[in-house]
Amino acid sequence: MSEGTCPRVAVSLGNGEGEHTDAAAFAFDFAVPVDTPLVATDAGTVTHLFANTRSGEPCWTGGGPECANKANFVTPRHEDGTATHYRHLNAVMVEAGQGVPRRAAIGLSGATGVAAGPHAHVARQADCGLSQCPSMRCGSPTSATTGCR
Ligand SMILES: [Zn+2]
Repeated sequence: MSEGTCPRVAVSLGNGEGEHTDAAAFAFDFAVPVDTPLVATDAGTVTHLFANTRSGEPCWTGGGPECANKANFVTPRHEDGTATHYRHLNAVMVEAGQGVPRRAAIGLSGATGVAAGPHAHVARQADCGLSQCPSMRCGSPTSATTGCR
């Protein structure tokens, strides 16, 4: 795919509904086929990742609450003190501590963990020191300089 020819994908914003409640209230779900390369929305340093759920395991293709801690993910922290959480990955393509430029591939999408189907869960969030922190709403004072562009 050449630059500038992004495929059209369905995007949903939970806004506190469905799976997106509490900390994930402002996360986005991008409906993309499995193994779609995901690129970093902003430059950062990988502070958290999980890549231990493998093909053939029960939580590889999505599952119930028992799969809550089985979603492969990457969380780079950005210079402005926020972070972005990418979840349900089939493959993680970066390592902890690695610097990631904007638009660099960080992983391949999938449906690992609690997922009704293949999609990329992406949330810009405050950095609370954990992999998943409160997601930020575009336009909020704390997100004025973040991914809302
Ligand atoms: Zn989601």
